[in-house]
Amino acid sequence: MSYLPFTRPTLDEETIAGVAEVLRSGWITSGPQVKRFEAALSDYLGGRPVRVLNSATAALEVALQLCGIGPGDEVITPSQTFFAAPNMIAKVGATPVFVEVELLSRNLDFAAVERAITPRTRAILPTHFAGLPVDMAQLYALADRYRLRVIEDAALAIGSRWRGQRIGSFGDLTVFSFHPNKNLTAIEGGALVLNDEAEAREVETLRFHGITRLPDGTRDVAFPGGKFNLPDVNARIGLGQLARLEEFNARRRELVAEYFRRFPTDLPWLLPHPGYAGEETGHSWNMFAPLLPLAHMAIDRPQFRAALEARGIGTGLSYEAAHLTTLFRRRGHHEGELPNTERIARETVTLPLFPAMTPADVARVCAAISEVLS
Ligand SMILES: *Cc1c(COP(=O)(O)O)cnc(C)c1O
Repeated sequence: MSYLPFTRPTLDEETIAGVAEVLRSGWITSGPQVKRFEAALSDYLGGRPVRVLNSATAALEVALQLCGIGPGDEVITPSQTFFAAPNMIAKVGATPVFVEVELLSRNLDFAAVERAITPRTRAILPTHFAGLPVDMAQLYALADRYRLRVIEDAALAIGSRWRGQRIGSFGDLTVFSFHPNKNLTAIEGGALVLNDEAEAREVETLRFHGITRLPDGTRDVAFPGGKFNLPDVNARIGLGQLARLEEFNARRRELVAEYFRRFPTDLPWLLPHPGYAGEETGHSWNMFAPLLPLAHMAIDRPQFRAALEARGIGTGLSYEAAHLTTLFRRRGHHEGELPNTERIARETVTLPLFPAMTPADVARVCAAISEVLS
């Protein structure tokens, strides 16, 4: 039987032909395709200004710089997330304040967020885990009450909706990723959704060396900016993907429904949050990542993953606990701080889910899990 990876991008012939056209056009780095991609993303997000960068990690760094966050500042963020956000908070010289997540949704616990707010807090940086939006009403109520910026890590949540509104179409700053494991890929890439054109112009400077143009045609730099521009080749791929995003996400939801129907339930797995009642289509399902019933298993997680791998089924781990990385242990973090986060880090396993899969592939994964655990 063919190998089933845990994720795989779907790139169609129209997109591949479009890339060939860009390669032949004579303009391959940031140019007309970037402008088109930004306009199309802006349309998709209700007209808000969007600027693309060469990764979500870069977009997070630039978002923090745009908010003027630096040494002495605190940013509240989950530890149950990809390393990028905690890393970038540390990189700009600020302190990530790690807050606990709920076990089922794996999204920030807003009661814990409120307890973590201090006079030094400048921003909340939540992750919409696996495409399930955080409680946006609670998030923005806290941000308003304490006058905090919000940088949403929506790397996994393009196409997700909260009470009918797309993530990124409202709120403060939103970051998307176009890495191949995400719902929309540009090979690599990211986007930052902004409040107004003034912020958009600042991002154009921050993503390209800090350069501004003077009236006499020469250039000036007032800030040591990075180089985070997205090439046109990548933007053209993103455009081809955006045209199919709703179809891809609908397919992901169908496959997840099949997982819920077929999942072996003889052991006490903790299955993912199914999406808010009545708003199930608001979940974009980047991953299907249940928690293993480790206490009831004769094998450990590496053995479980190896047994699936031996049956031609790939798995992933999302995520390790960021506060327990060497970087943050050196700053005093330790086991026992965040019990839900640490349990998720020990027990999570990401199962195959991507739009080119079939319901029969889901059945195959579920049967293999039953066999491995019996
Ligand atoms: C993938 C991911 C990122 C980083 O995205 P890149 O585009 O690879 O920089 C950040 N946050 C989360 C939650 C992610 O899943």
